[in-house]
Parts: sequence; structure tokens; C-alpha cells
Amino acid sequence: MTYTAAADRYPSMQYRRVGRSGLKLPAISLGLWHNFGDDKPFEVQRDILRRAFDLGVTHFDLANNYGPPPGSAERNFGRHLREDFRPYRDELVISTKAGYLMWDGPYGEWGSRKYLISSLDASLARMGLEYVDIFYSHRFDPETPLEETMGALDYAVRSGRALYAGISSYSPEKTLEAAAILKDLGTPLLIHQPRYSMLDRWTEQGSPDLYQALDQAGAGSIVYSPLAQGRLTDRYFAGIPEGSRASQEHFLTTAQTEESLGTARKLNDLAAERGQTLAQMAISWVLRPRPNGAPPVTSALIGASSVRQLEDSLGALRTLSFSTEELDRIDAILAA
Ligand code: NDP
Repeated sequence: MTYTAAADRYPSMQYRRVGRSGLKLPAISLGLWHNFGDDKPFEVQRDILRRAFDLGVTHFDLANNYGPPPGSAERNFGRHLREDFRPYRDELVISTKAGYLMWDGPYGEWGSRKYLISSLDASLARMGLEYVDIFYSHRFDPETPLEETMGALDYAVRSGRALYAGISSYSPEKTLEAAAILKDLGTPLLIHQPRYSMLDRWTEQGSPDLYQALDQAGAGSIVYSPLAQGRLTDRYFAGIPEGSRASQEHFLTTAQTEESLGTARKLNDLAAERGQTLAQMAISWVLRPRPNGAPPVTSALIGASSVRQLEDSLGALRTLSFSTEELDRIDAILAA
């Protein structure tokens, strides 16, 4: 059936400005790392994407290697775009990345201009797009001069292949260096995509920490795996469900240990007191005001394998604030 987007899709979402740019992102964005490859039914993918857009999720995040197999998430997303979202292209922020292994030989990964530009061209072809909104360097390359990697992002923007430039998983120091190079080139750093959740707080370490560095650079942040790939949800409270991420061999590291399950149950009790599910509290938590005065995270980048999960997670927006006592209790549970 032809898709028509819900007329009331915008009021239920909050939009946050990305750093000091002109762009806003939804407080919760949807990533297509898993659940959008050739191993997932196209109809399920379609239902998740349609529901997301109907609920105001205007940002979909991809990368060259998302699948499985690598490339298939972009190809499938290209078909969803053609069949459902083409009339809404100007209402969407679509991102892709290059940095991890995509093809054999010396030009198939990391941060050379040779790899980044050919990968971006291949991503555009798979999605059937003339441009992406954000193009990321997916990881810092210790062997390529940062000037070359940032030069490639600048070229991607200047040549019309991308509107904005981003980086992912760079340290605070490399982020500041990258931002300075991009500023000199005239293409400001828009955004950083780090991993961040109650179970992984590396972005809060160092001086400056990543959020302070981004504030200095005028850039925003979109944090991935805020649910720790399902460990900060009730997904594993009654064992490992068939088809879940932890049931897949290459994802065994995402399975709960006795200890992490105990932590999740305690957090779940606190979430229930707040009138939230654990997934919702985990998302609200990454979006909370920063304790050190830096601007809050711009967007929480979630994954979902069903419409039910998506709707549950978006429910986080109903209760974003925390009391100091609640935040202290969360820290105590995490430290135990
Ligand atoms: P999450 O931490 O949100 O984990 C998503 C998984 O958690 C789902 O697949 C599902 O597991 C489970 N889940 C989601 N919602 C619920 C819910 N409400 N209740 C119970 N279980 C739930 O994020 P991801 O790890 O998927 O990452 C999100 C996005 O971040 C990616 O799609 C990608 O765009 C980006 N990313 C970027 C990286 C980078 O290097 N820049 C690296 C990794 C991700 P199940 O599938 O078992 O149902």
C-alpha cells in the first residue's frame, strides 16, 4: 500500500540543535546497523521505518558496512526511500560513514581520501541518492595524516556529495585537532558519534572530556548503543530469546553476565518507580543535562528489531528529567 506519512508526526518529537550549527536532530534517531540487512524481512524493516517517521524520527543513520552482508542495509534503505520516502527527502537527515573494512586491498578501509570518496560514491549509488546529509569518518586512522582524512570530508561537502561532516569514536584530543583542520578548510565539524550508555562512559573521561571538547568546537553529539545493544532493557530477563542479538554467534559479547543482569534488574526497579521501562530510562539518561556544564547530547541513536521496541524506546521522551537523588541512585547501582 502506498505510504502517506502521519499528518501529526512532528509535535510528539523534540528537536535539538546540533552544536552551533543550523541543523536540528530528533532527540531520538534510528540506526540501521542491524535489523535492516538481507537477513531481516523487508516488510518488518518497512514497518519500523514508517512508524519511526510517523513519530517524528527524521534522522536515519547508516554506514557502508551495515547489513549483513555489508552494503545491504544501504541497498535496502534505498528501496524504502524509493517506495516510501522519496516525497519526504527534504524532511529527512540521512547519514553514512566509511572507515571499517569494506573491500579487499589497501584502499578498502581506514581514512585515506582514496577510500573515503570511493566508498561514499558507492553508498550514494546503493541508496539511490545524490547526496547524504552527514558523511562521517567512522574511525580515527593512526596511519593517515588527519589533514588528509578531514580534507576528504571537506571535499565530500564541497563536491555536493554531503551537506555536513562528522566523525565517530575519535578521542577528545583528536576531535579538537579534526575540528581545527575542518574549520581552516571552511567546513565546520557538525557532529561526533561516540558510544555512550550507563555501561560505557568513556566519553566522560579526560580533561577536556569529549562533551567539553565538542562544546569548544561548536559541534554536537549523537550517541550510539544507548541500550548497550539490549543489555539495558528487559530483553534478557527471562533468558536469551531466539532471534535476539545475543542469540547470534558473532554477538555473544552482548549477552548478559549474572552480574550485568543483576545491575539491569536494579535499574529496572528504579525505572518502574519513575513510571518508565528500563529501555526508556536508559535513553532519558544519555539525554540528561551534562553535569559539567557542557551542552547535553543532541540525539540518542537507537536500534530496534520491531515496531514494539521502537515505540517503547520513543516513550522515553515523556520523562526526560531526573532528580539529583535518582541520578545518585543510578550511579550507586552502577558502581556496586
Ligand atoms: P541499542 O543500544 O539501541 O541496541 C538496539 C538493540 O536493543 C535492538 O536491536 C534490540 O535487540 C534491543 N532493543 C531495542 N529497543 C528495545 C526495547 N525497547 N526493549 C527491549 N529491547 C530493545 O543500539 P545499537 O547497538 O543497535 O546501535 C544503534 C545505532 O547506532 C546503529 O544502528 C548504528 O546506526 C549506530 N552505531 C554506530 C557505531 C559507530 O561505530 N559509529 C557502532 C554501533 C552502532 P534485538 O535485536 O535483540 O531485539
